[in-house]
Amino acid sequence: MSAGSADPNQEERRLRERPSILDLSFAELEEIVRGLDEPAYRARQLWISLYRTLTPSFGEMSTLARSLRAKLEQHYTVDCFETAVEERSKDGSTDKALLRLRDGELIETVLMRYEADDHRKRRKTVCISTQAGCALGCTFCATGQQGFRRQLSVGEIVAQVMRMERIARAEDNAEIAVNERSRGERQGVTNVVFMGMGEPLANYDNTLAAVRVLNHDQGLHIGARHITVSTVGLPDQIVRLGSEDVQINLAVSLHAPDNATRSQTMPINKRHPIEEVIEACRDYVAATNRKIFFEYVLLDGQNDSVDHADRLGRLLRGMLCHVNLIPVNPTTEGPYPRPGRAASKAFQEKLTTHGVASTVRMEKGIDINAGCGQLRARALTETR
Ligand code: SF4
Repeated sequence: MSAGSADPNQEERRLRERPSILDLSFAELEEIVRGLDEPAYRARQLWISLYRTLTPSFGEMSTLARSLRAKLEQHYTVDCFETAVEERSKDGSTDKALLRLRDGELIETVLMRYEADDHRKRRKTVCISTQAGCALGCTFCATGQQGFRRQLSVGEIVAQVMRMERIARAEDNAEIAVNERSRGERQGVTNVVFMGMGEPLANYDNTLAAVRVLNHDQGLHIGARHITVSTVGLPDQIVRLGSEDVQINLAVSLHAPDNATRSQTMPINKRHPIEEVIEACRDYVAATNRKIFFEYVLLDGQNDSVDHADRLGRLLRGMLCHVNLIPVNPTTEGPYPRPGRAASKAFQEKLTTHGVASTVRMEKGIDINAGCGQLRARALTETR
């Protein structure tokens, strides 16, 4: 039925339910543009408008012919969500957004600003979600305590970065206006970590497709080595990732050096014991020759003793890897307090004796519930 002859209610519903154009790959866009009897180069122009200039609506894409903009508008939307809550930490380093997807599901995205230090340049990292909720139920994680809702689409994953990119670019441009020194540095988001709500490798195809969009040289062009995918350790998917033609970083959440301790906080360990995870990691390193990052949240009295560090050191000895030690971000639901600095330091020293490199990383944005799922949990509690 044509737009002109449609029942108005039906037509309104159709427009409301248009798919997001952000769910399409570059090749799919080319196909659609061809199907609309437009020359192939229009696909590139459209891609650039979406991902490089971040034009928020078809109507504003002035490089495209008016007729094409109207056709696109009829069949697609550029939107994936609206902002439900937006907060900035007191020190201004962290922004967190709670986003309401078009079907009402809530997800979280965080932008973290880091100043330059002795080892690294100044950077802006976005932490994104890949699922609404999560089925894996880690006991220290607010999302894990809320259950699984659904997979995110490619567009819903990528749009989180685009949202934060607009903020990051605007502030960088404002800074350039007063500070010549920052001219020439990469502006906007420099790094993306798939560490928000959900298990990225349980949404494997959409996660990989999103990585390709983020990395595309005509779009956001975030370097693959600046993209990190984090997993609880799904062995088959880790091995599969090792065979992909993407040079991204892989982070594996270990959080314990043995099955008994790990199963207490990560129920997935009962399905995939730690030996299986480590074997998959060794296969991944052998296939890619890339370093694996192990995430280890330090939980006071649970997994933070020198003995745990000793066992972790034995487990990882000789592997091309780096351990990130993260003193837990206390949640209202989680039972674990944050360990003191001395305990974290002693843990790190023990790892060093096994030749395993590590960094103690403090989480940002505690005053705005920046830990995964905390803002959603708070919003839902307030709504109730
Ligand atoms: S830590 Fe990650 S995998 Fe575990 S419950 Fe939370 S979101 Fe899911």
